[in-house]
Amino acid sequence: MPNLNLTALFRPEILAMSAYHVADAHNLIKLDAMENPYGWPADIQQAWLEHLKDCPMNRYPDPEAKALSEALRASNNIPAESGLLLGNGSDEIIQILQMALPGNATVMAPEPGFVMYKQIALSLGLRYQGVPLLADGFELDLPAMLAAIESSQPSLIFLAYPNNPTGNLFDAGAIREILAVAPGLVVVDEAYAPFADASFLGELPNYPNLLVMRTVSKLGLAGLRLGFLAGDNAILEQLHKVRLPYNINCLTQITAHFALTHQHFLLAQTRNICQQRGEILAALQDMAGIESYPSAANFILLRTLAHAADEVFISLKNQGVLIKNLSPQGGVLHNCLRVTIGKQEENRAFLAALRNALQNP
Ligand code: PMP
Repeated sequence: MPNLNLTALFRPEILAMSAYHVADAHNLIKLDAMENPYGWPADIQQAWLEHLKDCPMNRYPDPEAKALSEALRASNNIPAESGLLLGNGSDEIIQILQMALPGNATVMAPEPGFVMYKQIALSLGLRYQGVPLLADGFELDLPAMLAAIESSQPSLIFLAYPNNPTGNLFDAGAIREILAVAPGLVVVDEAYAPFADASFLGELPNYPNLLVMRTVSKLGLAGLRLGFLAGDNAILEQLHKVRLPYNINCLTQITAHFALTHQHFLLAQTRNICQQRGEILAALQDMAGIESYPSAANFILLRTLAHAADEVFISLKNQGVLIKNLSPQGGVLHNCLRVTIGKQEENRAFLAALRNALQNP
């Protein structure tokens, strides 16, 4: 057998990067990945199982996912004149967008931000430019963004609204200024829209370069892998050429359609999560040694002040609670941890474990 030379086989940027890491949550309270902690009520689950019988497993799924697209339009109030592109999670849409760009294009995003914007840009050999957020409050540094846009002329800008991992909504006026000067596409990533009282969907008719991306993951359907992009038809027409045929499988199409037509239970779960978010934030604000940040999402960013976050993270894990350690990313995330809002008993277990970690380092 010939000796394979990986260095000759793969591009240097692939060899240099690490695969997206997912922590093993076995036997742990899982508060690391912004999932909805609730399952489905028994009656809904029963009705869904009945529904699944209509799924023709021997056939390819509807390539345009028409019924599901209509349900998404209705449940998200997507302007009638806007087009829609569905993806296998919004991750796939981030990839589709970047695959369609010229090889020398620049992709830009504020940092810290969602890691896949950069990961995909690097994997495709595109240029990536991160623009630091203001350290105090994680707001967009508008002069720095405008200067970076002027000098780098990005083909694509991602703005997560609310932002992951900081949890805040950027100033809407600043986003409008970026939309007005950006020479290329601006994707407002509304992954956390179910927990935020703000959206740019209504702005779609005003900005031809605006695309709004959403996902059903945070609403409670992370297992289905379904995201969507709304925007100008002429732009989406180009992106559809890059999309793989049948990228939304029939189980996802039928299940997401079913869930959206019964979405009252998902919306009730979302309201619970928002209420729990308030309770955790209040508890964290009373906790000595912790700085916590306001959130319009289903997670909270916090910083340890007197302890190393790495140690607090390990202590929590040893006590059976898995959250996300952001401290290794450094910069403004030094000593930062991110906790996803769980069920009340999970959140209480997290708070108790955190108090314990701070008192018994
Ligand atoms: N955008 C943001 C801001 C996210 O935080 C995430 C997931 N953590 C995604 C997109 C991807 O979501 P999905 O692929 O599950 O739709």
